[in-house]
Amino acid sequence: MKGRSPSRNQSAVLRGIGASPGIATGKVFILSRERVVVPRRQIQAEQVKQELHRFQAAVAEAQHELQKAKEQVAASLPREALLIMDAHLLLLGDEMLVGHAAQLIEEERINAEWALRKVLDELSALFRKMKDNYLRERGQDIEVVGEVLLRRLVGSQEMSLAEIEEPVIIVAHDLSPAETAQLAGKKILGFATDVGSRTSHTAIVASSLQIPAVVGLERITQEVSPGDLLILDGSAGSVVLNPTEKTRREYQERKHRLQVMTRELRKFVSLPAVTLDGHHLRLTANLEILEEIKYLKDSGAEGVGLFRTEYLYLDRTDLPSEDEHYQHYRQLIEAVSPYSATLRTFDLGGDKFASQLNLADEMNPAMGLRAIRFCLASPGIFKTQLRGILRASAHGKIKVMFPMVSGFHEIREAKRLLREAGAELDRKGIPFDHEIQVGMMVEVPSAAQMADRLAKEVAFFSIGTNDLIQYILAIDRINEHVSYLYEPLHPAVLQVIRQVVEAGHQAGIEVHMCGEMASDPLHLPLLLGLGFDELSMPATNVPRLKKILRGIKKSDAEAFARELFRFDTAREVLEFVRAEIQSRWAEAYSLELPTLVTDHPADATRSAPALGAEN
Ligand code: PEP
Ligand code: MG
Repeated sequence: MKGRSPSRNQSAVLRGIGASPGIATGKVFILSRERVVVPRRQIQAEQVKQELHRFQAAVAEAQHELQKAKEQVAASLPREALLIMDAHLLLLGDEMLVGHAAQLIEEERINAEWALRKVLDELSALFRKMKDNYLRERGQDIEVVGEVLLRRLVGSQEMSLAEIEEPVIIVAHDLSPAETAQLAGKKILGFATDVGSRTSHTAIVASSLQIPAVVGLERITQEVSPGDLLILDGSAGSVVLNPTEKTRREYQERKHRLQVMTRELRKFVSLPAVTLDGHHLRLTANLEILEEIKYLKDSGAEGVGLFRTEYLYLDRTDLPSEDEHYQHYRQLIEAVSPYSATLRTFDLGGDKFASQLNLADEMNPAMGLRAIRFCLASPGIFKTQLRGILRASAHGKIKVMFPMVSGFHEIREAKRLLREAGAELDRKGIPFDHEIQVGMMVEVPSAAQMADRLAKEVAFFSIGTNDLIQYILAIDRINEHVSYLYEPLHPAVLQVIRQVVEAGHQAGIEVHMCGEMASDPLHLPLLLGLGFDELSMPATNVPRLKKILRGIKKSDAEAFARELFRFDTAREVLEFVRAEIQSRWAEAYSLELPTLVTDHPADATRSAPALGAEN
């Protein structure tokens, strides 16, 4: 049951969010990240100079430490991760933070820690009140940097990664991206945190370092003790605490299977994505940052089906300029050509910045001012991006799509702003693709419901199941407490998806899927049978899906998909899917079968209380 602590050495399974794939087994190393307790002291006039000196020394040390950490990892980290560290360095020289604290020490004659705490509290309150989601988020960076400084001032023991002598799994309440970056080259097998989401900065850094990670475990710091044994499964998003001998063996086998599978799948990278009866289904990649292009090249994906452009906005203190957008997307399309890249205009808000620090900012961030809503409310920021996208379209086949569209008003407004952006470029004689394809994501039930009519507005649909499922089933996609209800195979979800595909095809437009549902091998016969034109997924999944696709017939998949609609529950659908795969397509799934039969991640979403006894 949720919240129950296992007694010492008792086995337990904790479920969180897989942030970086891979399996690790090892001892726990807990990093304590409790908020620093700040002493309050009045100082004498003659002590002011000394106090200022102490404060400035702490700032200089923190700068030095961060600079050193940055240099150590500069070669191994993507630009985005280094930018986070740069932003923190900038803050350490910021007048608003450091200058203001020094002023308080002088004027109010208070100790440095107390002055800094006062400034941090004021700034946090100020940032929390900001209407602009993006700016509000910057408050988090100030808190992170402030805590580093406070620790130095109160002489609190910094978490010491240097103490690690044997390979360990780090368990922490949270890890800042800079801390995660420092894990590079250390004896770190993986890490698990209480907070965070798949899209948190920390997760990005973890996957670029290829360190298996599970985040969003809520209470793991309270459930483990130093020296406990953990198995961490970064693909399934689960952690087994003090596993039994039997479970350890199972995971060892699973790890071995994964290695064999990866090797075997390399053969499929260069083969076409066609079914046994000659039907081509385009398999494309979801990308967040440019550094992932190398995985795309190794995967055999036919271009980019979803580029989450909001990552360009993260980890910095200013907004990207039009030119920066242009250069960023130009780099992408030049690497992806001759294939196309679908650029999703930025989807900020929702869970994109989810972290402990600002959960209370919007009571319902997933239904708040995010994605296209935010863009239409900030047309200046939006058009800067649109001009950048259009300019890049002169260098290759770029498509553009809008997230979270809920009806006609939004799609028409977004298209109008795109036309305006184009007219602005025309006036300056700047070239772009005037025939650029414009699509929309279908991820809000109202859009799915009106898909037949909305199809006339766009060149393609892309179903975003991550959000669509959360809205159809009323399941917060990042809330651990209800994740067991998050069921892609729920009959209601299947009906909506079928309706959107049919509506799109009747109107003569392509229908794609770019949510996580498209990357699960279990769903492939269904999605093929429903008639999707393109499935977009993390690049590393493309070879798996391609192998399966090449082993089944489209006509069989169509008959199979029709049958799924007679069931009442997701469990019945899942059982039927598994049975059919085993009886009809064992060969196509030969590298997957053991995983599907024993511990497929789909089971975790059906059955899991967040913390349960291991069986
Ligand atoms: C989705 O909602 O399925 C999707 C692909 O978009 P994101 O995960 O970025 O919200
Ligand atoms: Mg979405």
